[in-house]
Amino acid sequence: MSETLSYPFPDIPAEGEAIEVAEGILWMRQPLPMKLDHVNIYALDEGGSWTIVDTGFYSKRGVAIWEQLMAGPLGGKPVSRVIVTHHHPDHIGMAGWFQSEHGAELITTRTAWLMARMLVLDDQDRPTAESLRFWQHAGMDPEIFAQRACERPFNFSDCVAPMPLGYRRIRECDTLRAGGRNWAVRMGNGHAPEHATLWADGVVLGGDQLLPSISPNLGVYPTEPDADPVTDWLEACERLRVFATPDQLVLPGHKLPFTGLPLRMRQLIDNHNGALERLLKHLDTPKTAHECFMPLFKREIRGGEYGLALVESVAHCAHLYLAGQATRSLRHDGAYTYQRKGA
Ligand SMILES: [Zn+2]
Repeated sequence: MSETLSYPFPDIPAEGEAIEVAEGILWMRQPLPMKLDHVNIYALDEGGSWTIVDTGFYSKRGVAIWEQLMAGPLGGKPVSRVIVTHHHPDHIGMAGWFQSEHGAELITTRTAWLMARMLVLDDQDRPTAESLRFWQHAGMDPEIFAQRACERPFNFSDCVAPMPLGYRRIRECDTLRAGGRNWAVRMGNGHAPEHATLWADGVVLGGDQLLPSISPNLGVYPTEPDADPVTDWLEACERLRVFATPDQLVLPGHKLPFTGLPLRMRQLIDNHNGALERLLKHLDTPKTAHECFMPLFKREIRGGEYGLALVESVAHCAHLYLAGQATRSLRHDGAYTYQRKGA
């Protein structure tokens, strides 16, 4: 039997509209002002109310679309619970708004809640000394560095609603009842720490851990400069793939719902192993993370992609260094250079 990925719902829901993808599960989208221009939202029917999964950026437009969704496809029933898969702003952005404005309960992992609440309170007008040092270590392009050093950095609070105190924790092996199904909670890792995935009979809510057609970003950030998200990612994929079956309908955080998860899990693992192999070849002479875009992404990186590409490049270089396959030295200009051992 040839294994393939299938996309049973090839048409995307229009703004403010929903598509039923399984009994009692609606698929909607919220726009994002980036190259990846949308995030998927799901609503699970509780009878008299809805449990929604992920929320989109907090913005005037995001609020307007949510109001349209609630009056339209959600039929005026209240949103009583918000499940958030992981702490990234496109997923948790509106959670606090649902808590404050609609009295909804927030359900997420402890790490997701702590990370998001910490970051949303961390208002920065200029990059911190730690961020500048991190960029220097990564060998950031000097022009981009000079520009970023004197402008307001990306702040969580720019697109995440204030988060009131209180949430309900989900953890590995929990069972969560929602939308008439029992969901097994299994933790992903690597793209975001303690990233929840939810598994019911025939349906999987994958967040950004289980994406079709794009490989989730694995990044190192100044909050944890010695992290090894590539190891975390590979470990989580190996652990989760055991539960994958070809017929499950996977509802991902971006792009289209799909089936063929066993194949996709293998691809998600292979994508990074392939990238590491190409990177190791490229490190025949000392290179900074900034100088490793080509072997990792196989294309030029420009504009708005630079930041995500840099943190992903640091993650892969750091992985080879921490795994003992590459050396790391501090260059005179403050950049780390990586070189294959024995090269
Ligand atoms: Zn994410």
